[in-house]
Amino acid sequence: MHAERPAAAHDETTLSDATLDISTLPEVGPLGPDGRPLVRSDWSRAEVEALFAAPLFGLIDRARAIHLRFHRADEVQLATLANIKSGGCPENCGYCPQSAHHEGSVTSTPQMEVGAVAEAARRAKAAGASRFCMGAAWRKVRDGKAFDAVVEMVATVKAEGLEPCVTLGMLEPHQISRLAEAGLHSYNHNLDSSREFYENVVTTRTYDDRLNTLATVRAAGVKVCAGGILGMGEAEADRVGLLLTLATLPTHPESVPLNRLVAAPGTPMGDLPPLDPLDWVRVIAVARVMMPAATLRLAAGRATLSEEGCALALYAGANSIFYGDKLLTTPNPGPDADRALLDKLGLKPRPVSCATA
Ligand code: SF4
Repeated sequence: MHAERPAAAHDETTLSDATLDISTLPEVGPLGPDGRPLVRSDWSRAEVEALFAAPLFGLIDRARAIHLRFHRADEVQLATLANIKSGGCPENCGYCPQSAHHEGSVTSTPQMEVGAVAEAARRAKAAGASRFCMGAAWRKVRDGKAFDAVVEMVATVKAEGLEPCVTLGMLEPHQISRLAEAGLHSYNHNLDSSREFYENVVTTRTYDDRLNTLATVRAAGVKVCAGGILGMGEAEADRVGLLLTLATLPTHPESVPLNRLVAAPGTPMGDLPPLDPLDWVRVIAVARVMMPAATLRLAAGRATLSEEGCALALYAGANSIFYGDKLLTTPNPGPDADRALLDKLGLKPRPVSCATA
């Protein structure tokens, strides 16, 4: 049972000794064969600390400039997430009401039928989504009927003209190969936090398990979706560590979901206060500077964010939102509210044919 309230892994809450001037940091490497600048995978901790210590407006200016070099200014990708198998998960992730370890666990439900997933995908597409993600509360993929059905779901979502993404826990090379053959676009597996803070989040699998899963996905030629959760009681040094790990992978994740903790009652993190929206914006801006080409996704935690907070996060470098009334088990602004906000901001959904991640 993982029931202890998380504590900061570092004594400091800020990084006041960062001395680098961020205006001197190289943003990108030399030009690649396609004439576009190469992204950097050689970030140092001192550089990332300097980005976190920078005045927020200066950091956002820099992130915005990089964003405009790599992405269209007027597009946001809408991604819809379907919970294809809810609850009863043997992992003990401290934030998750789907874990069987917590008092506040949600009721376990049977796996969705392929036809129901196809219907949900059609609805998502009609509402403007170009990516359809499917999550199962599994520790790892097991060969058999349940996985066969997921493979069929991937092919079905692909046939609907959407980018299929799945998050199924750990998996073996032959399993990711089957998903790739079925048309899988991306595999999601979040790092959650820094290596140092990780044991405060989950103890039933290791940080290296997570990194190994990402390597298995990458080796199969499937795009990687990996991000984390902010507001779990981590120190700023842990936010540095999370982004440093992601941005120094041999290839950056094409997709980086950044979640703001939704403190679920009955979980070990159920009493944590909400993350300051500006702290979330700072993480997004630093992530944009470090991973210029990635699609940065505003994931859980938007339901308690003002329109202004969401707008600033999009200006600071985010270019995707999860779209729909619910994100797995947590509330999300409804599609009507999100479409109204995008209209106010003059943003439009990214069509699937232009999708890069
Ligand atoms: S986050 Fe995923 S792996 Fe962790 S308990 Fe929840 S469903 Fe299971």
